[in-house]
Amino acid sequence: METSLKRVCRFCGDPLRGRTDKAFCDGRCRNQYHNRKQKVPVLSESAKRVQRQLIKNRRVLQELLRDRSRCLVERDQLLLRGFSFDFFSHCRSGRGGAVVFCLDLGYRKKSARKLEIVRQPETISVL
Ligand SMILES: [Zn+2]
Repeated sequence: METSLKRVCRFCGDPLRGRTDKAFCDGRCRNQYHNRKQKVPVLSESAKRVQRQLIKNRRVLQELLRDRSRCLVERDQLLLRGFSFDFFSHCRSGRGGAVVFCLDLGYRKKSARKLEIVRQPETISVL
């Protein structure tokens, strides 16, 4: 009984001949397959941890800001919600002082204990 599945190259899809453990036509297909795979942006575990904290920080800012465009809060309000001041995505200087952003929401220092939460303008230019 004919039960053999048609084996094909994992890169180009051509039928394979020869050894049953072959996965590619030849070294060229194997190399191209692995080169292409490496271009897929896979985040390392440490990068994922940074990403999770950034998203958490943004969520804390959003919880406090709600639908306003800006608001004053106590620094402790952020800390109590799990905000970490060590993690941010970018900074912008402005008339009211530098703003530290966690994605599209940020804060600027107003005093030792007070922060102003602000939204990033829609017209931001990203390189
Ligand atoms: Zn191939």
